[in-house]
Amino acid sequence: MPALIVGNWKMNGLGEDIAEIAAMAGAGAGSLWIAPPFTLIDRAVIVSAGALTIGGQDCHAATHGAHTGCVSAAMLADLGAGFVIVGHSERRRDNGERDEDVRAKAMAGQAAGLQVILCIGETRAQRDAGDTEAVLAAQLDGSLPDNADALIIAYEPVWAIGTGLTPTLADVAAAHAFIRQRLAARYGGAGHGVRLLYGGSVTPANAADLLRVEEVGGVLVGGASLTAQSLLAIAAAAP
Ligand code: PEP
Repeated sequence: MPALIVGNWKMNGLGEDIAEIAAMAGAGAGSLWIAPPFTLIDRAVIVSAGALTIGGQDCHAATHGAHTGCVSAAMLADLGAGFVIVGHSERRRDNGERDEDVRAKAMAGQAAGLQVILCIGETRAQRDAGDTEAVLAAQLDGSLPDNADALIIAYEPVWAIGTGLTPTLADVAAAHAFIRQRLAARYGGAGHGVRLLYGGSVTPANAADLLRVEEVGGVLVGGASLTAQSLLAIAAAAP
C-alpha cells in the first residue's frame, strides 16, 4: 500500500495559492490529499482535476440546520471533497471539541461518503506523566465511530504540531502499535485495515524515517504542506 501524504493547510491560503495545488496535481505524485481552507475547496477540486483528493478540515455533525457559519459533511461532498479531518487538536483546543463531538463528526463524514481522518494525540504534560497510552485509549474509546468504514487514524502528539519537535521513531512505533491493538480490539479484523498516519512537524528531512516506521501508513503534514516544493519532497521521500 503506497504511503498516503495528507496536507492540512489550516487557516492559510488565498486564491493566489491555488497555484500551489495546481503544481502538486501536475506532479502526479501518487497518493496526495490536501485539505485547503473551506474557501478554496471548490477551486482546489477543479484545478486538481482528480490528480489529488481534496478534503475538509472539519465538518458539523448535523446534516443541515440552524448552525450559522458551519459546514456539513454533505456540503463538503457536494463540493467534490473526498475526505474530512475530524478531532484535530487545534479544534479541540480552540473550539472545545470533546471526544463525543469528534465521534459524531466522524459518523457524519462516513454517512456523507467521505473518508474520515480522525486525529488523536497526547500533550507534552501527558507524555511526561507517562499517560500517553491512557490518553490515546480514552480518545479512541470516546471518539471512534461505530464501524471502521473509510476510517483513518492520525496520531498527532500535540506537542509535536508546529513546533519542529518529533517523538523518537521508537515512540512513534510504540504509539502506532498501541493504536492498532485498540482498533483490533474494537473492530476485530476490520481494525487491521484502518490506515494509521503520523502527524507533527513532518518535513522533507524526516519523512523517510517516519514513513519507514512499522504501522505508519502515511503522514499528516501542516506547515510543510503549504508549498508544492515542500510537500512533493515529502511525497518523494516515501519508501
Ligand atoms: C497538523 O496540523 O496536523 C500538523 C501536523 O502540523 P505541522 O506539520 O505543522 O506540525
